[in-house]
Amino acid sequence: MGENKKSRATYLDMLNRGEMQVAPQAAARVAGVFEQVHRTLKPRTALASVEVRFRPYANGNCQVQIQNGALAVRLSDIYLGAPDEIIEALAWMVLSKLCRKPVPPEYPNRFRSWMGRKEMRRTMHLVRQLRGRKTISGPQGGCYNLEELFEDLNHRFFHGLMARPNLGWSRTASRTLLGHWDPSHNAIVLSRFLDRPEVPREVVELVLYHEMLHLRYPAEHHNGRRRVHTRSFREAERQFPQYKEWSAALRKLLHS
Ligand SMILES: [Zn+2]
Repeated sequence: MGENKKSRATYLDMLNRGEMQVAPQAAARVAGVFEQVHRTLKPRTALASVEVRFRPYANGNCQVQIQNGALAVRLSDIYLGAPDEIIEALAWMVLSKLCRKPVPPEYPNRFRSWMGRKEMRRTMHLVRQLRGRKTISGPQGGCYNLEELFEDLNHRFFHGLMARPNLGWSRTASRTLLGHWDPSHNAIVLSRFLDRPEVPREVVELVLYHEMLHLRYPAEHHNGRRRVHTRSFREAERQFPQYKEWSAALRKLLHS
C-alpha cells in the first residue's frame, strides 16, 4: 500500500512538474526538422543551435523563440508520437509566423487532418483528463488491484520481464474508453467501469493485457501512417485464454 502511494505520487508529480524526461532522440528528431524548415525559410541565416523541450501541456501548444541565433522550441508531449511530416507541418506553421512569412496552406491542412483523426482526438481528450489531478486515482480499486493483476499477467505472458508502468483507475466510469496506454507518462489507465464485482476478473485482465501489449509492440509507421494494432499485436492478443469468449463477455457488459 505504501508502495502504491509512492508510485502514484511519482506519477502525479511527473504530470504536474514543468518538464518531462523524454527520450533524447525524440528531441533530436524534432530539432532536425525545425532546423531544416528554418533553413528553407531563411537560407542565409544559419542557426547557432536548436534546443527542443517537450512539455506536459494539456493541448497541442508549440512555442518558438530565437535569441542570438539560438532557436528554442517548447512543444506539447502529445507530439512525441507524431510522424515527421506532422512535425514538419507544425514547424512550417510556427516558424513562418516567427519569420513573418506566409504559411503555405498545405501545412496547416496536413496538420489539421492529423489532429482531427479519431485517435488524436481521443489522445487529446485523455491528456486533458489525465492532467487534472482529480481524474485519476491509484492502482487499488474497490474490487481489483491493478498492480496485482499486472504482475500476474506479467508472470503468465511476459516471463515477468515487463517493467511495471504507472497504473491507475479513471475517475469516470467510461464505457467508450476502457483502457489507455499513455507512452509519454508511462501509464496504463483503466476505466472505473471495470472495477465492479459483476465484471469477471478475466475481462479486466483482457483489457489490461491489451494495454500491456502496447508496451510490448510499439506503434509502427508505414508510409506516414501510424499503426498501433500491428499484426503481431493482434496475434499476441489472441493468445489470451478463451479470448473470443471473454471479448464477447466484455461486449455484453458494455451493452448491459
Ligand atoms: Zn489498443
